[in-house]
Amino acid sequence: MAEAAKIDQQASAIPHVLVFPLPVQGHITSMLKLAELLSLAGGGGIRVTFLNSDYNHKRLLQFSDAESRSQNYPGFRFETFDDGLPMDQLTKGEKVSELLGEMDSKTRPVFKNLLVQIQPPVTCVIGDGSLGFISDVSLEIGIPIIRFRTISPCFFWINFWLPEVIQAGELPIIGEEDMERLITKVPGMESFLRCRDLPGYCRAGTDDPTMIQVVKATRESSSPAYPLILNTFDDLDGPILARIRQRLPKTYTIGPAHEHLQSRLGTASSSSSLWKEEASCLTWLDAQPPGSVLYVNFGSITMMRRDQVIEFWEGLTGSKNRFLWVIRPGSVCSGEMADDVQMPEELVEGVEKGNLKVLVGWAPQEAVLGHEAVGGFLTHSGWNSTLESIVAGVPMICWPFFADQQVNSRFVSEVLKLGLDMKDVCDRRVVARMVNELMVERKEEFRRKAVEMARMAKESVEEGGSSYRNLELLIEDIKLMSSSQVQGLGEIGN
Ligand code: UDP
Repeated sequence: MAEAAKIDQQASAIPHVLVFPLPVQGHITSMLKLAELLSLAGGGGIRVTFLNSDYNHKRLLQFSDAESRSQNYPGFRFETFDDGLPMDQLTKGEKVSELLGEMDSKTRPVFKNLLVQIQPPVTCVIGDGSLGFISDVSLEIGIPIIRFRTISPCFFWINFWLPEVIQAGELPIIGEEDMERLITKVPGMESFLRCRDLPGYCRAGTDDPTMIQVVKATRESSSPAYPLILNTFDDLDGPILARIRQRLPKTYTIGPAHEHLQSRLGTASSSSSLWKEEASCLTWLDAQPPGSVLYVNFGSITMMRRDQVIEFWEGLTGSKNRFLWVIRPGSVCSGEMADDVQMPEELVEGVEKGNLKVLVGWAPQEAVLGHEAVGGFLTHSGWNSTLESIVAGVPMICWPFFADQQVNSRFVSEVLKLGLDMKDVCDRRVVARMVNELMVERKEEFRRKAVEMARMAKESVEEGGSSYRNLELLIEDIKLMSSSQVQGLGEIGN
């Protein structure tokens, strides 16, 4: 073989992985952690390109030390694409289904072009499983695909069984049904999964195409031939994972990704925030007694009506507990019936007095949850927030908004017993009662459970732990893909 060809072949023996998330905060965060893990654990033996939309990349550069990745990991780089989408309006859950549809038509051709042209050629694509076109395009070009699901395994499993549930007539939910009705056709969840625990797209008459998209994406991402990556650890989701692995043997659980990265780095990982992080809340926490503060944050997409905000405010202040409430700018809408509701000044401007702080902004959430003053988390049950709370050993009160959150909140309360599920109720008396239950009456019981789960989370990412081993296996798999591609090339060349 000619010398130049040999060198070329060696270069292409270094695998090149393209990581492509759905362009929203929660997906970017967990997939960027994975991209960094591959760069780090691959020991420079893997090239990683992380694909961001222009809009998000600008924000990432503005509000985080994104560029440190390219400096810290040789072979890591960002690539961007012109989204041509109204990303700046993407602040509410209902827009996500629109985004999925628009990306399918607008981003598909852009992605195809990029994948054909990118150098060095891509060994495999790690695509967000919620974007079906990533696999379509990759397979069309002949590039292996690995799916990453940023949602919880329990929600993935429910979506996997949706066709059977629909076939059995258990879904969609029609009109004003009994929301306590059990859904019995999801194996492993027969005794506790209720209509109330399912997302809005399971209700008929919402003319939301999401259910069909979800069924399609889940089935497409469920071929046993293709590896699946889940952001969880085996001790957290054992029974569901055993069932998933019966169907999809190549399922790699590598989470909690943020803790895994931190553990391998030996120091806190860089931020991936698309908003400016306000560290002032950490200073306030420094002055509070250990375990005394309830942290309130509903994530990057949840929208709240003004009347709901006021119910929380009254419930939180009425509980007399210490709290830190971080309100994302623009997250409060004036829905019907709420137009004439006057917002308290404290919730518009923010306030810091006595035993409470309201911050209108964006918090460094991992650091907040890890602060010793924090003893509880009132959350929307996004999967990243749930994992971050679990790692920090902080029990939760759940007020889910959309997607996997309704299911996650059921799991947190019924299966993991790590907190309370407020579900679809928004009432000041319920807020106050639950805050007292979590922070005072059953504090020790929840804390014990949370500390135990946090210990298991940390063990899973340490050397020899299940997530640690799974990442090594995933890397081996990627390297094998690369060497078989090179062999293939060699054979053709010969
Ligand atoms: N987050 C943050 N600061 C905030 C609110 C959220 O850093 O003030 C981060 C949080 O730590 C998590 C992500 O944003 O990693 C939100 O993802 P999640 O899956 O919990 O919910 P989503 O925003 O997708 O609904």
